[in-house]
Amino acid sequence: MPQLRPISVLTIAGSDSGGGAGIQADLKTFAAHGLHGLSAIAALTAQNTRAVTAVHVPPPDFLRAQIDACFADFHIGGVKLGMLASTEVIHCVADALEAHRPAHVVLDPVMVATSGAKLLADDALDALRTRLLPLASVVTPNIPEAELLLGRRIQTDDEAERALAQMLAEGARAVLLKGGHLPGEGEMTDRFGHDQARAVFTNPRLPVEGHGTGCTLASAIAANLCLGLDLREACADATDYVHGALRHAYRPGHTPVAVLQHF
Ligand code: PLP
Repeated sequence: MPQLRPISVLTIAGSDSGGGAGIQADLKTFAAHGLHGLSAIAALTAQNTRAVTAVHVPPPDFLRAQIDACFADFHIGGVKLGMLASTEVIHCVADALEAHRPAHVVLDPVMVATSGAKLLADDALDALRTRLLPLASVVTPNIPEAELLLGRRIQTDDEAERALAQMLAEGARAVLLKGGHLPGEGEMTDRFGHDQARAVFTNPRLPVEGHGTGCTLASAIAANLCLGLDLREACADATDYVHGALRHAYRPGHTPVAVLQHF
């Protein structure tokens, strides 16, 4: 276990009672990177490896109190955003980020869980686009999330390339478009774009249904940015981290869904 550094990293996201995704995955990822993890809980889910059975969204004032308490005391190197549930919550988080201006913001635009549960209200997409995208150092959509953000289907590598270009043209500062949902055997390709720079990160496709991979990836990027890596390196290293955590994943529940092993 590495020595914890005095630098802290904050996750503003949803709690997963099953311990696989959300805040729980984020804090494990921060600890595995040797950082002190802080959390502001934007939503609580009653969840296991089978399903999300209930969601509770605390009042935005209480979320703001959590965020302000963190910024009032800790040296926060960066912020990870995950499940934000509603338009109201998104406005609350955007206001807080504008007030505190952290150096790095990693936006995982969480919308739907792998189990099919809705984690973001339909009418919150606009707020996510207009309030949070401009504040994010990097946004990390998977293919279904990019489809909802852009309003069109992405089914091929060419369409994924064009989607990446469109998100950058529409104002995202940097994008890591995750390729796990694209067809293809053997390998999966994540596409990175920042200004004129482009990169692809490939990893072998593993025969595991992992829970919390998106949360872990975004948290690993935030941790890497706090540790001084540049955006491209932070994203490349984070894709490798998720791959390693998936290779050692285990199944704590009664379904084939696995939880990542953080180390
Ligand atoms: N639950 C919470 C609280 C989350 O933040 C996330 C993140 O995406 C999920 C569930 C979804 O995880 P998965 O898509 O791996 O099921």
